[in-house]
Amino acid sequence: MPSLWRCAMSLRYPIGLSGEVVEFSDGVLTHFENHIQRRCWQCEAGGQLFASLDRNIVHIAVASGPRDKDFRAPFLYVPNKAEERREIAHFYRLGLHYVGDWHTHPQDIAQPSALDLKTAKSTFLRSKHMLGGLLLVIVGRVKAPRGLFVSLTDYEGSHRLDAAW
Ligand SMILES: [Zn+2]
Repeated sequence: MPSLWRCAMSLRYPIGLSGEVVEFSDGVLTHFENHIQRRCWQCEAGGQLFASLDRNIVHIAVASGPRDKDFRAPFLYVPNKAEERREIAHFYRLGLHYVGDWHTHPQDIAQPSALDLKTAKSTFLRSKHMLGGLLLVIVGRVKAPRGLFVSLTDYEGSHRLDAAW
């Protein structure tokens, strides 16, 4: 029963008591894994998250980046704003909505920095959303879900989401 197996393997994060569930596609999880900072000299990577919305399921279909024009260092990632805007327009035409951002950290279990939380809040305030908030995913070295930090930022602040199987 391949479909049942696939269902059992999917990584889902319920959004509080809203009934909405964030679901990561296998392709997106593989993209995260491909950019894990396994060596101290490797730079942070990141990009944007694009989702299709089907009733209460927010299906993260694409994780973009990193891009040539991003600024990348072992402890810092600054995405190129023009590229971000171009991606949002491009994926919108394909029916996918910008729902948040991701980047890697050189930590086993990813934790957001104060700057990460501040950036998430300011991005939430200046962008349009289909969700009640903006997703922030940080990819640590340990395989997801343990190494992965997932949160939703709204007017009140950042709310960590926990994986449900
Ligand atoms: Zn960070």
